[in-house]
Amino acid sequence: MTEIQKEYMRRAIELSRKSLANGGGPFGAVIVKDGKIISETSNSVTLDNDPTAHAEVNAIRKACKALNSFDLAGCEIYSSCEPCPMCLGAIYWSRLDALYFGNTKKDAADIGFDDSFIYEELEIPVEKRRVKTSQVMRDESIVAFQEWDDKMDKIEY
Ligand SMILES: [Zn+2]
Repeated sequence: MTEIQKEYMRRAIELSRKSLANGGGPFGAVIVKDGKIISETSNSVTLDNDPTAHAEVNAIRKACKALNSFDLAGCEIYSSCEPCPMCLGAIYWSRLDALYFGNTKKDAADIGFDDSFIYEELEIPVEKRRVKTSQVMRDESIVAFQEWDDKMDKIEY
């Protein structure tokens, strides 16, 4: 890890600590493109009443707005903590080039942010998951997929 990368990581850590003072969760993230920070955020779940407002998701949303794009290829994310499954998914969907994190998911679990149950849920059949889940009405749902498949002028992503 280079000195400048350490600076990005330190900024993510600083944001995680500042977040505490502002009433948010202790998580921060920054996104860098071409050696420049284009997005820096912290967790705002309780501040925004938004359970998806994790630092990484907030950082991805802000970076996409800044670049006016849904594609963050060419960017790197620095997070004060190992991403939860939601954020990890968002990191892949946004096509970030690289991820650096400080605290591990074990460190997060130790202070009450345990996401291991989500990883466990992914391993078991849908009908056995904690959230009552049923696959229904596929024949009607599939119509939009067929229309998408036939559409000639779609923006693929
Ligand atoms: Zn997360």
